[in-house]
Amino acid sequence: MVPTGPLRGVIVVIDPGHGGADSGANRLGTSEAQLTYRMATTLSEVLRQEGAEVLLTVKSRALSIVPHEGKSEPPLEAPRDARFTIDNKYVGVRQHESPEDLYRRAQLAAKVWQTRGARHPVFFLSLHYDALSESRWHGGLICYDIRRGKSPQLANALANRWRTSGLAGQRRGGVPKARDLGVLNPEHNPVLQSVLIELATMSNRSDLNSARNATWRWKVSRLITDAVISCVKKT
Ligand SMILES: [Zn+2]
Repeated sequence: MVPTGPLRGVIVVIDPGHGGADSGANRLGTSEAQLTYRMATTLSEVLRQEGAEVLLTVKSRALSIVPHEGKSEPPLEAPRDARFTIDNKYVGVRQHESPEDLYRRAQLAAKVWQTRGARHPVFFLSLHYDALSESRWHGGLICYDIRRGKSPQLANALANRWRTSGLAGQRRGGVPKARDLGVLNPEHNPVLQSVLIELATMSNRSDLNSARNATWRWKVSRLITDAVISCVKKT
């Protein structure tokens, strides 16, 4: 089937945070990895519906489900079997302890950029959920790598939508935040439109409930897809 839609010819690399031996943050029996991998399935589906080619930095059985809007989904699954797409290596250590593993994620982006970036718009989205020591903070954050100098168009488009939809909560998600992020380090990840999204704050009960909710995931996936579409239109 030849894809149609506004994202035809566009490549989106999705990087579900954590997995394997690294569950990420944990709150009330839910791990960040469970949430990022499930979010990746919904986001992939929405992007593909709009014509995009979606590539994932990791492989896992948890990524094999194809969600259907309005239908019930299987329970969240821990992606303990996760392997990097680039070299099939097991996702075995905690992210902050191993920049090499973050670079393995970036390596797929670099490969796509070098081999196909001249002919196709390429986007890179790393998916995460934040956890803070205080439970009252809620909302998400849009982050880009501090070495980029200025925020990528995609980060601005996402932050606008985070602000207007209320997803930013009372955190500063309405403004892109510059951070030192291994997976977006331009020395390893050359994709200009690269963003890390802290989708919500797991340490807040209401955000955690949202993150676990399929309807919320569809809504956020459409918002992200809409932001990507707005960037393609402008370039
Ligand atoms: Zn994370």
